[in-house]
Amino acid sequence: MNYENLFSQNKEMNLKGRYITLSDIEPLLMNYNSDNQVQIIGESVLGKPIYKYELGTGKTKVLLWSQMHGNESTTTKALFDFFNLLNSNSDLANNLLNEFTFSCLPMLNPDGALLYTRENANNIDLNRDAQNLTQPESKLLRSIFENFKPDYCYNLHDQRTIYGVGTDNIKPATVSFLAPAYNENRDINEERTKAIKVIVAMNNILQEFIPNQVGRFDDSFNINCVGDTFQFLNVPTILIEAGHFQGDYDRDLTRKFVFIELVEGLKKIYENDIVNNKIEDYLNIPHNKICFYDFIYKNIKINYDNNKIITNFALQIKEELIDNQLVFNTYTAAIGDLEGFSGHFEYDVEEALYEDFEINIPKIDQKAEFSLGKSIKFVNGLKKN
Ligand SMILES: [Zn+2]
Repeated sequence: MNYENLFSQNKEMNLKGRYITLSDIEPLLMNYNSDNQVQIIGESVLGKPIYKYELGTGKTKVLLWSQMHGNESTTTKALFDFFNLLNSNSDLANNLLNEFTFSCLPMLNPDGALLYTRENANNIDLNRDAQNLTQPESKLLRSIFENFKPDYCYNLHDQRTIYGVGTDNIKPATVSFLAPAYNENRDINEERTKAIKVIVAMNNILQEFIPNQVGRFDDSFNINCVGDTFQFLNVPTILIEAGHFQGDYDRDLTRKFVFIELVEGLKKIYENDIVNNKIEDYLNIPHNKICFYDFIYKNIKINYDNNKIITNFALQIKEELIDNQLVFNTYTAAIGDLEGFSGHFEYDVEEALYEDFEINIPKIDQKAEFSLGKSIKFVNGLKKN
């Protein structure tokens, strides 16, 4: 399988960047809706439609939902790439549609998507509402789960750029997985084993594309999380977290890796190729950990009470919605030795003097506008000449 070609043939060109809202995906869903496959299943807090796209006639039922966190759009883009594949009339598409029935909620939290927030319009994290079901979006997901009776659930998210994998040679965690626990003991029963074996298949293919950039999430049990609840209800559930790939702040490369793993995992399910996958291979995927900043500047010089101090500082990018545009702004996040942390961008400035437009000492949460040494000015973390 040439996954690079498969992706470029099916990439949904109308979706790009991080800010994906209902108005971006509605026309695409309408194009697919030749025979009522696309339905509005209910409304968000602010009355926006929540769509379900169902396709395939196979006996294995797969429920996938994306953008339950409104600002996590990478897997939504990958889902639409996947929809294009399923509509391509290729042998692979027809195999998938014969083997599976897919029920897809490509944007569970349209209000959060528009506001670019993790939470819904009531400021509730839907992924902590699986038991109380206080929010309309949570109730809808639960009712689809109960009516559709899936054999597998795919819980699709983004993770921040702070996550990495590895010990000596730290790499960004471009994808992280979790087969959520179903009890406090984190036991591995038959259903959880099924999720684990699919993750092993996904990890195997990803290692060909992004070696050592796949992580595994901590499996502490929290029944308020949707994945834990669904696993507790005996449905194998797979959490996918799309993360950072070097330089790809728009996550248009990461979406490709999500597409590839999605297709490969499903192929391995219907070819019954996952039976021999080993639980140890899942447990051997390294834990992801918080070990990255977006920018690190090493060996800056600060004048502090007339003493010169040589230190390091780090910046973190925040995605901010300003006049309906998503802007990447950069703020000071940490100052000090920064032991155990790496930067996606790192500069050794060799004791150049730090100066900004205030007190000439980096302050946490200060917007990153400063100069290092004579005439090297930085705006938003990047050199300006
Ligand atoms: Zn999330």
